[in-house]
Order: sequence, then C-alpha cells, then structure tokens
Amino acid sequence: MRRVVVDPELDKIVKAFDLFVSDFFQWVLSHDPNDPDLEGKINIENSPLAKVARKTSVKKLLISFVQCPDRNFIQSLYMYYIKNYQNIVDGTPYLISKFTPETWTLVINSFDYFYDTLLNIKIFQRNYIPDYDGPKELKREIRKKFGEEKVCPYCDFHNISHEDFSSIDHFLPKSRFPLLSIYSENLVIACAGCNDRIKRDAFELPIFHPLFDDVTNYITFKFDQTCSRINIDYNVTFIHELKSATNYCELFKLEEVYITILYKLRSDRKKIRKSVETKFLLIDISKRDFTLLKKLYRDEVDTFLNENIERRGSFGLTKLRIDFCKFLIEEGQKFDLDYLAEKLTIEIQEDVSLSRI
Ligand SMILES: [Zn+2]
Repeated sequence: MRRVVVDPELDKIVKAFDLFVSDFFQWVLSHDPNDPDLEGKINIENSPLAKVARKTSVKKLLISFVQCPDRNFIQSLYMYYIKNYQNIVDGTPYLISKFTPETWTLVINSFDYFYDTLLNIKIFQRNYIPDYDGPKELKREIRKKFGEEKVCPYCDFHNISHEDFSSIDHFLPKSRFPLLSIYSENLVIACAGCNDRIKRDAFELPIFHPLFDDVTNYITFKFDQTCSRINIDYNVTFIHELKSATNYCELFKLEEVYITILYKLRSDRKKIRKSVETKFLLIDISKRDFTLLKKLYRDEVDTFLNENIERRGSFGLTKLRIDFCKFLIEEGQKFDLDYLAEKLTIEIQEDVSLSRI
C-alpha cells in the first residue's frame, strides 16, 4: 500500500533482465532470416547473450525469432510497452498485439521460459548478474532476501519475510502482457494471496502501482464507534485517481479482508484504555482529574500512532492502525474518556479541548 523503495541491489538484478531482453531483440533484428548458419554465428560470438544461448534454449529461441515474420512488430510492441508502462498502468488506452497464433505461441513460450527457467540458470546469472553469487534459485533468493522484515505492498497485511509465503508478482498479468514477463517495473514481491488475486480476478486499469504510487495517501479507513464496521474514504483530486484507488481496493478486497480483523483494533483499544488507567492510578491522588486523564489518553494514542508510523512497510496493518489512531483522536476519544472517567470515578469536564490532529 505504501510506495515501495526498491533496494539498489535488487534494482541491479532486475535491470539485468531488461538488458537481456534488449540484447535478445537486438540480435534478432540484426540477423538475416535467410542466413543458413545462424547457429554457427551464435557458436562463435563472445557476447554475454551468445554465451548464455549456447548453453540454454535461448539459442533455439533466437533462431525462431529471427525466422518469425512478425519479429519487427514483436520488438516494437515490447519497446512500446516499456516506454509507456506507467501510462498503461494509469489507464491510457494501449495497443493490443494482433499476432498470428504461431507468433503468439512463440512469444508466450519464450517469455515463459525466460521467467520460469532461464532466470534460475547459472550461466545466465554469471553473464548478466556477475555480482550475484547466491544459489541458482534466483527468484526464491530474491523473495527471501528482499522480502525480509517486510509486509506485502498490496494488502499491507500479510508478511512476505518467508519465501514460502511470497511470490514475484507480474503487476500487469503475464496472460495479457507476456512480453513484460521479466520486465523490471512489472515485477513486485507480494504475498501469495495478492498474487493469486491479480492472476485470477478481473484486472481493471487504471490502478495504483506500488512502485509509482503511495496508496496510503489516497485512501482513509473510517470506523464506526464500536469499531465493527469499516469504510474507505478516497482522498483524490482527479477522476483517474479515484478510478485507480477504487480498482485497487476492489482488486485486493481491502474492505472485505480488513473487516475480518477489526477485532485486532478493538483489542488495541482495550490495551490503550488499560494502559491509561494504570498510568492514571500511579499518579498522586491529589493530581488525578479529567484533564490529566485526557492528557494520558492522548499520549497513549500518540505513542501507538508513532509506533505504527515507524513500522510502516515492516509490520502488517500499519495503515489501518494509523487511520484508527486518527479516528480515536477525532471521534473515539469521547467514548473512551467517558468509559474511563466512569470507571475511575472522575468528574467529566466537557470544555477541555483535545483536538490536535
Ligand atoms: Zn498481499
């Protein structure tokens, strides 16, 4: 939900994927489909691409692409997608591939191979990511290393620290954009549940993208007094922002998911009240009054708020809890202070203002 800041080491790795695709197309377009010895050319070249191709299925794919009558169109479409990637996510109408079934099959099979197999082959890693010396299961290693102490950027709920519960998601789905299967900006480390949603559900554009947008700025969670219902308010200026926000919240089913864990907020609220009560009773009896009670309550909510601000991106539900703290300060405090005052037999003073945020 919060904008993802890509680790420079991860950035270097995923940019290597882009370089590979660029080399691949460059080779394809610079060779003659009628050349009878394309394989021989690959065998004598000394480029990183040729070294990879000789030991993998990339050799066969290079030759198939050179001989594909749509090769120029495929490369143009790839370039168009990556140059306009952010505009496409923002909802600008985009070109759709009108390949023949044979070309479509070639594209899908090739880019599936790149993503599913090639990234995990050592010869590819040695030539395109020379600084990487981890296990050959590169995608798993990426999830393990760069998901550490992080929460899913889509739902802000599930932890992605363990590689068994995370996946590398294709933001624009691979089924619709096979050419973007290993494109750096299209790869997002997310929880398995959100990844499944993107794959399975109707994916509507425009939509906020975790690499470009901080969704937390565009939405506010609102609660009822007993914290048993939740609504989303949209803080937007433009119509495309509203569409991006609603498509995001609907795709990841934020209201539906969050309503099932509102008990956690009710428990947080109980803890806040309990802590205020304990601290209040530790103060000298002569100083105990409603003003003190209010101050202790505000301090407690502020502490909880700051804790969640600091934990953003590392712990689940920080956005929900930050908005909950704002709700407590604006609307919930009267309810809590009335409860506490009654319990502690303190006289309520209505005129003591608390509004600060
Ligand atoms: Zn998620």
